[in-house]
Amino acid sequence: MLYDVIVSGLGPAGSTAAYELASRGLKVLAFDKEKFPRYKPCGGCVSLKAEKILPFDFKAVIEDTVYGAVFTFKSKRPISIMSHRPIGYNVNRDKFDNLLKEKAREAGTEIKEGERVIGIEQGNGHIDIKTSQGSYKAKILIGADGANGIVGRDVLGFDSKLCAVAIEAEIPYDKEKIAVLKGRLLIDFGCIPHGYAWVFPKANSLSVGIAGLSIKVKGQVKKYFADFVKKEKVLSHANISKVYGWTIPYFSGAMQRIVNGRVLAVGDVAHMVDPFLGEGIYYAIRSGQLAAKVISERIADDTINLNSYNEAIATELYPELEAAAKIGKWVYTYPRLWYRILESEPALLERYYDVIRGEGSYKEFYATIVSRIKARPWRLIVRWIKGCFSDTNQRKDVNQNLKSAV
Ligand SMILES: Cc1cc2nc3c(=O)[nH]c(=O)nc-3n(C[C@H](O)[C@H](O)[C@H](O)COP(=O)(O)OP(=O)(O)OC[C@H]3O[C@@H](n4cnc5c(N)ncnc54)[C@H](O)[C@@H]3O)c2cc1C
Repeated sequence: MLYDVIVSGLGPAGSTAAYELASRGLKVLAFDKEKFPRYKPCGGCVSLKAEKILPFDFKAVIEDTVYGAVFTFKSKRPISIMSHRPIGYNVNRDKFDNLLKEKAREAGTEIKEGERVIGIEQGNGHIDIKTSQGSYKAKILIGADGANGIVGRDVLGFDSKLCAVAIEAEIPYDKEKIAVLKGRLLIDFGCIPHGYAWVFPKANSLSVGIAGLSIKVKGQVKKYFADFVKKEKVLSHANISKVYGWTIPYFSGAMQRIVNGRVLAVGDVAHMVDPFLGEGIYYAIRSGQLAAKVISERIADDTINLNSYNEAIATELYPELEAAAKIGKWVYTYPRLWYRILESEPALLERYYDVIRGEGSYKEFYATIVSRIKARPWRLIVRWIKGCFSDTNQRKDVNQNLKSAV
């Protein structure tokens, strides 16, 4: 049997692509190496922007509604910035991903769980897929098997050096104590080079994690995680018995290959994680939708040309990811200065919440930061110098700092 599309991986990217394609009447077969519900290391914060593009609701799997965050610097100097409207929802990925996969099944996708894709060959007019349990043929393959999948590695030259490294733990937490943490994320800057740590409340547990650029973290991620857990008051009685390491393929420029012949990459395979916030679920869902749109437009052609997927991604997603990369580069290179700005202008973050809601853009947010810095450069220099004296490791050239900021 020749399928229209085979999907490798049933995270948010693969399930969304499968759902959209099957809903349009295409014959879709999708594999995941795991049997669901399965654990996926993730903070599990789904932005309002992501909710807006999903064609069905996921209320049944929401663990907490997020209205803002408490920011800290090295677990000190807390700033609470709460909004009256939600910015996102905390979910457990086992339930959330299971729901998305079941929606793909209901739409008509043939789903095979616990079956790993192990070989891919582009034949004449089709693709041969080998799995742990058999062989299959399709006109098109979607690579949705994440940061450690086979499609990126074998077909698209996935660059694992362009990743952040992360550690995450889901820890059971007293229901009464959790009540005071609900509604907000806890985000700590300065605890890891080029990254941050978090505590995200769920119904009966906390997602605790840390992530930083692999080239800066230099194999020390476990140490940074242990230091953060030791300092963070909320975690003082927490019993963290099991932690998971993972990679985050953040967007680092449009050089990542996302199309090769009849193969398309979506989500993490396409390096589509926001390099400032680390948000990947929205981009996984949206790239799955864009891939499905392009495929459904091209599938009837004799020679299937999927290059318009490059254009769709470049037009819709890269400009935002590029602006997020600029902000991320600056913030994580100068976390102390960033934190001083936050302390003096917390309203800036409310602008950022609009970005998370999909009501403002990263480009606008970047322009706002730059204009604030330009408007008050001397005050910022003084603040930054004060910060340098309280931590000599953070010393950098002031002029260079301002140049990169602007
Ligand atoms: C620690 C951590 C915290 C994060 N926190 C957040 C957050 O709070 N909010 C947010 O928006 N993003 C977050 N992200 C990013 C987010 O988790 C990812 O961007 C998102 O899961 C990408 O979705 P995906 O569908 O592309 O891949 P994945 O979710 O990784 O799904 C890939 C699927 O492919 C399957 N698979 C792998 N290999 C094969 C194979 N050979 N054959 C068949 N199946 C295979 C896997 O089992 C998996 O089910 C976080 C990431 C990490 C690591």
